[in-house]
Amino acid sequence: MALSGLDIYKLLPKTNCRECGFATCLAFAMQLAKKTVGIDKCPHLSQEAKNALEASSQPPIKLVTIGEGEDKLEAGNETVLFRHEEKFYHPTGIGFILEDTLPPEEIKKRLEKINKLSFERVGQNLSVNLAAVRYSENKKFAEAVKLAMDNTRLGLVLMSEDAAAMKEALKISAPRKPLVFCADKNNLDEFSALAREFGAPIAAKAQELEGLAGLTKELNSKGVNDIVLYTGQKTVKDKIWDLTQIRRQALKKSNRALGYPVLEIIEEKDPYEEAIAAATYISKYAGIVLMSGIESWQVLSLLTLRQNIYTDPQKPLQIEPKLYSIGAAGDKSPVLVTTNFSLSYYTVLGEVEASKVPAYIMSVDTEGMSVLTAWAAEKFTPEKISDSIKKFAVSEAVSHKRLVIPGYVAVMSGDLEEKSGWQVVVGPKEAAGIPSFLKNL
Ligand code: SF4
Repeated sequence: MALSGLDIYKLLPKTNCRECGFATCLAFAMQLAKKTVGIDKCPHLSQEAKNALEASSQPPIKLVTIGEGEDKLEAGNETVLFRHEEKFYHPTGIGFILEDTLPPEEIKKRLEKINKLSFERVGQNLSVNLAAVRYSENKKFAEAVKLAMDNTRLGLVLMSEDAAAMKEALKISAPRKPLVFCADKNNLDEFSALAREFGAPIAAKAQELEGLAGLTKELNSKGVNDIVLYTGQKTVKDKIWDLTQIRRQALKKSNRALGYPVLEIIEEKDPYEEAIAAATYISKYAGIVLMSGIESWQVLSLLTLRQNIYTDPQKPLQIEPKLYSIGAAGDKSPVLVTTNFSLSYYTVLGEVEASKVPAYIMSVDTEGMSVLTAWAAEKFTPEKISDSIKKFAVSEAVSHKRLVIPGYVAVMSGDLEEKSGWQVVVGPKEAAGIPSFLKNL
């Protein structure tokens, strides 16, 4: 937990020697609390004070990295229980389990499909993060890990409790920084040695939180600090309890032994139940979710949910306010007006594209608010729209003076005509009505 200025002051020598560049130890303590200076500026700190100050500056949930380069996954480093308090920072890593019992051709086929599980939504690319290989026997496991190395750039999870098999798999995949899954009380010595030797993060497994905290402390004492938590197979209800308690313990009780991202594995056979369980864990604190289903409908719904949960609720997704030309828009093309809230713009864009009618979309700066919210907040007004017409030089792009406004703000059409001098046509209320509206315009 972060220390206050006064807490920090109690740890300082209180000699006011000024060597840190501040007039008093208290002034230095206040700047330390604000994180504007580092503890190295005071040469007189005791080891005990250094330890306490360093511990307080660590994030309550450790950031753990799996994989490398652009495709790496970062999990953890969350600071709040509820996203409205601040925001959630590191979106849940979504990964897929590949059994090493599958024929190599099938593994390759699945990896190919997993690699393609990426979608564009409201201007952002959404993609999956991990491929997990699950052990059945040594030779097959090593072969499957090699296939994963050769056929995907995603981060890897090595799922085996056999130390010899894990070592062979790590020899193949160590440069990818895979997650070693998993250490428990029976194999802790061997697995922690492997994680240290290959510089890989490791998952710690125990059914009870107390046992889990004991494991992470032991791993720390062996020099292993990049840890992911796993509480074994349980019902979804019990898992929600674990996930919530672990997050609470880390954030509210400063329990550093549980301050790590949590991994969940979904073993549901029914693809709908699998997607529902994954959605539940993504909503409630899982750092990583592993599942077997790789159907696009499952993954698109999970990526969409994840995108919504990990968007800052205080900063709606916005696009640049301007005049967008869609298709081969020319001087006779219609001009549709909407806001610069990403979801509004991309919904309108999708329907305009579907209509195959070239058009312009004028996105008005409403600070990222949707049509009705912006209208109610007086951010989408006749004045604002008139100003945007001038600012974006719409009359240079088209030879007519006709605007299409969303049906929900039909009430402003008279005022807008007066203020802008443009003829206003009221469009459909819902974007789904745009294709037929444009074709009949
Ligand atoms: Fe106090 Fe250390 Fe700064 Fe000296 S250098 S004033 S002891 S904080």
